[in-house]
This record gives sequence, structure tokens and C-alpha cells, in this order.
Amino acid sequence: MPDFVVVGGGAAATQAAETLRELRPKSSIALVAEEERPFYMRPLLADFVAGRMAEDRLWRDTESTAEAHDITILTGTTATGIDRAERALILDDGIRLEYGKLLVATGVKPVLPELPGIDLDRVTPFSCYADATRLTSWISEASTAVVVGRGLQGVELTRALRLSGLSVTMLVPDESPWFPELFEVRGTLVESDLERRGVQVIALDRAAELVGQEGRVVAVKTSEGRELPADIVGFALDQRARVEFLVGSGISLADGVVVNERLQSSDVDVFAAGDVAQIEHDGRRRPIGYGWLRAIEQGEAAGRNMAGEEAVVGVGDESEAQALYGMSLLARWD
Ligand SMILES: Cc1cc2nc3c(=O)[nH]c(=O)nc-3n(C[C@H](O)[C@H](O)[C@H](O)COP(=O)(O)OP(=O)(O)OC[C@H]3O[C@@H](n4cnc5c(N)ncnc54)[C@H](O)[C@@H]3O)c2cc1C
Repeated sequence: MPDFVVVGGGAAATQAAETLRELRPKSSIALVAEEERPFYMRPLLADFVAGRMAEDRLWRDTESTAEAHDITILTGTTATGIDRAERALILDDGIRLEYGKLLVATGVKPVLPELPGIDLDRVTPFSCYADATRLTSWISEASTAVVVGRGLQGVELTRALRLSGLSVTMLVPDESPWFPELFEVRGTLVESDLERRGVQVIALDRAAELVGQEGRVVAVKTSEGRELPADIVGFALDQRARVEFLVGSGISLADGVVVNERLQSSDVDVFAAGDVAQIEHDGRRRPIGYGWLRAIEQGEAAGRNMAGEEAVVGVGDESEAQALYGMSLLARWD
């Protein structure tokens, strides 16, 4: 039985596994990751799609990291359930992996709206390496794209497509389209910057239907009666925490896994870190999906706490992180 099991293969999981190894040289550690090559730099995906960055720069070499740190890594494996009474994680191949302490670092996934045409070819979210490679394979045959989205990932997807030479329309459904916690002025800044870079921004309108021809998307019809040509349609709207394997387990779940400042869930042997963790502090639950640096910070703190140390994470104002995104987002185009 591994002493520590970490579920997820991203920034929080990897940081936690390495921290555990550092603090507990003799313990056994296993990491379960759904993706075949799990640890890559998600914030660099737009540059990869736009052809500005070689693919090998995306990756951290997980295999040699695992070997160097003596961590057992099960890639291409999804956790599908948990048996808390027996302290076992259940995997998609039916294997039960017993644990002493468990870390949930499974991130978030995009939610696609239920629209006519949503299953057409060349329609995608933008959250992982597989989405990015799909986009790169479509771009050479495309000249127009519509991004239905908002916030950081909407802007990043728009950037990837625009810098690839496509004519891009961004359809933003919200009144406060960019970073809802920020002042209007920030939204205006992002919007005017996108327009300066040749992106057509349409706010306060929604995708109502995706129009296809021979199975492939060709246009987006909107609620306000527009019909926008699109060889590619990307969605960057809502995100949902990857907690499906914990539903019914009795572990406290809200938007994500509810944890305290030590990242401990309602089960003292189960921790959560990164985008999936929802910190409850001073009677208030923070939003999920905090970002890359927070995922690393939380991965380290979770590792420390699981190893028996006392580490408390920052519960700073989330709009601070969003503002930082806002500024660096604009600089990324140059
Ligand atoms: C395009 C894009 C650009 C971004 N740009 C920025 C940026 O500029 N700045 C910033 O701060 N943040 C950015 N982010 C967000 C940042 O990447 C995330 O906040 C960060 O990756 C969260 O790390 P994580 O380890 O919590 O989760 P993730 O990196 O999402 O990793 C979770 C992993 O767990 C796996 N998993 C899920 N469920 C299971 C399961 N049941 N069993 C096994 N494995 C499972 C998933 O497949 C995934 O590989 C960006 C994200 C995207 C998609």
C-alpha cells in the first residue's frame, strides 16, 4: 500500500509528490494521472498553438522526474471512486489503490453549453494538450474562428487563433466580460486591446446554434440574430471541478473539494490542492480555479501537511490574481 497517493498529474499534484518525497525519503508515493503525458505548462498552450513555441518546451519530463524521485506514476489512468472505509482509491481498470493519505489535485474541466450543433467537427474547448493539438491540426485549413468565451482562457484562445493568422470574432455573453471581480475599466482595456489587434469583439450576445455542413461547423448563429462564419469554434465559458469520483463519498463538496487553510478536507486523511480545492476560511468559501502559481503553492503546502508538517496557504483576495492575469495577458501578444 502506498503511504501517499496523489490523484491528478498537473502542477499541484507534481509539486505535492515531489514535496512528499523530499520530506519522506522512505515512504512510498503513487501518482495517478488521466492524461498519458501529464505534466506540461498549461499557460504556454496558446503559444504552442500559435506556433511560437516548440512543443518540447511544454513538457516537464515526468518519467525521469518519477525515476529521480522514486515516485510510481500511473498515467492514462482515471480515478473513478473512493472507498473511505477501506482507504482505497478505485481506478478505471478496477484496481483498488490503498492509501495512507490521499491528495485530490484533479483541476477543473470546461463545460460546453448544450446547443444545437455542439457535437460538430472543429468545435472544442481549450483546456488541455489534446485540445491544443486538435486546434493546431485544424488551423492550416481554416481562415475564420469564433471564440465563445470570457476571462483568461477566452482571451488566451483568441490569442492562439489570431496569432495563427485567423480572422477571429470573440462572442462574450456577459455584461462584465473579462474578469467579473474587476472594475469596468479593466474590461474596457482588454476589449480595446483585442480590437487593436484585429479581433472583432461582440459583447452581450450568445451562441444560440452552431451551423454545420457535412458534419463540420461553418457558422455560429447568435441570440441577437447574427450569423458569424466560423471554420473553428472554441468555447471558454464555465469550468467545473473534477470531483465526479468523490460524489457520494461523504467528503464535503461544493464548487470544489471544501478544504481548510491546511488543504485538509472533511476527511482528515484526504487533502485537495490546486484548481479543484475550495478553501473555506472565516466562514467564506473562496472560488475554485485559482491559477498556476497557486496550484504550485498549494501542492507544496498539501505535501507538507500530508507529511505531518504545518503549512497554511494564502487565502488572499482572488481579484488580485485576476488583475495579474489581466496585465500579463495583454503583454503576451507581443
Ligand atoms: C489555456 C490555459 C491558459 C492558462 N493560463 C494561465 C496563466 O497565464 N496564469 C495562470 O495562473 N493560470 C493559467 N491557467 C490556469 C492554470 O493552468 C491552472 O490553474 C493550473 O494548471 C491548475 O493546476 P492543477 O494542478 O490544479 O490542475 P490541472 O493542471 O488541471 O491538472 C489536473 C490534472 O488532473 C487530471 N485528472 C482529473 N480528474 C482525474 C481523475 N479522476 N483521475 C486522474 N486524473 C485526473 C486531469 O486530466 C489533469 O491532467 C491556464 C489554463 C489554461 C487551460
